[in-house]
Amino acid sequence: MILMGVGLLVAVGVMMPSSRSPIDAPISISIELPLTQNAAEPVSDIIEETVDVELPNIQLTIAQGDTLSGLFSKIGISQQTMYQVLESDQTILALDTLKPGNRLSFWVDDLTRELTALELYFDPSRQVRFERVSDSHFTYNEILVDGEWQSVPLRGEVHGSLYQSAAAAGLTARDVQQIEGLFKEKVKFGRDFRAGDNFFVLRNEQLIDGERTGNTDIQAVVIEVRGKQLSAFRHSDGSYYDAQGQGLAKAFLRVPLKKRYRISDHFNPRRKHPVTGRIAPHNGTDFATPTGTPILAAGDGVVSLVAKHRYAGKYVVIDHGGSYRTRYLHLSRSKVRKGQRVSRGQVIALSGATGRVSGAHLHYEFHINGRPVDAMKANIPMAKSLSGKELKQFKKLVAERMELLEVD
Ligand SMILES: [Zn+2]
Repeated sequence: MILMGVGLLVAVGVMMPSSRSPIDAPISISIELPLTQNAAEPVSDIIEETVDVELPNIQLTIAQGDTLSGLFSKIGISQQTMYQVLESDQTILALDTLKPGNRLSFWVDDLTRELTALELYFDPSRQVRFERVSDSHFTYNEILVDGEWQSVPLRGEVHGSLYQSAAAAGLTARDVQQIEGLFKEKVKFGRDFRAGDNFFVLRNEQLIDGERTGNTDIQAVVIEVRGKQLSAFRHSDGSYYDAQGQGLAKAFLRVPLKKRYRISDHFNPRRKHPVTGRIAPHNGTDFATPTGTPILAAGDGVVSLVAKHRYAGKYVVIDHGGSYRTRYLHLSRSKVRKGQRVSRGQVIALSGATGRVSGAHLHYEFHINGRPVDAMKANIPMAKSLSGKELKQFKKLVAERMELLEVD
């Protein structure tokens, strides 16, 4: 309220410790919610005033219970402008992934009070910036910083639940889910472990400017279950193999449908949008599925998001571990919940025509390392075994990692 009506450029912020643990539940930035439902006024404390045009006019840190529409109206930016940002977000779907602790920066024109740019700061490795290009449109730009990755060995012993023991050893819920996925054929995590069973994990941790981002990547796992040793090692090809070089990762389905349907729109980084007529990337493949067509998980994984977007409609995101992620848009119904483990081929949703569409279809995206690729053409992982020279190299890598993990 202090912001509105005051002609000054005001920088606002609450320096909450940004929570990095993937265990934290994301807030659902439910865009359609009226502000009155969030009367808690959780955010703003004025920390600084500035007139520097390069700096954002307003910066704030998202708190539990915030909604995008609430924040926009608090700052005095119209819902219409918010919808224009959302329209640009349809391609990247970044807004639904905001969590408490993430930061928003708003650039507002001095004279017109119009939003000129909005930046989402997720962590030092990822930012998304929306920039006004006309009276009614924004474009987006995603900044991904790889930084440095540091190998850290972690070890623990099972006491009580496996999740508790893993957390005590420093593993996140997402790490455990990824490990569970690697061994799901061989061991039942909730059942097979006994007190005293050991586990060793070599985890890569991302650092940017010496600071941990919270992004991790499992390099190697050795688990001793009832005297039996299970192992998984990530090879230079990005896939996981056991110590003998047998592949653990399963192949993906090329098409996440039971039957073939006509492709009504291909992956195209420079497509003319059928509704708006603008050039914007089409980051997925569209299948002409009638409403109610069962949609299958393209691979084993964990549901990382089930959300509803003004333009993308109802959609599901699956995290497949390592560097792979898939998205399914314009659904009529989701059959999964966030956090649920799914198997390749499992029905996860029914297709529909939600969001802004010209007709019922499935929009399907495949991402590698955070970037969309053409799922119909991309080199996606297939289950295989290593042999020859590759196996020799891999065995060397196994020996090195076993030594780092101090496994006998
Ligand atoms: Zn599409």
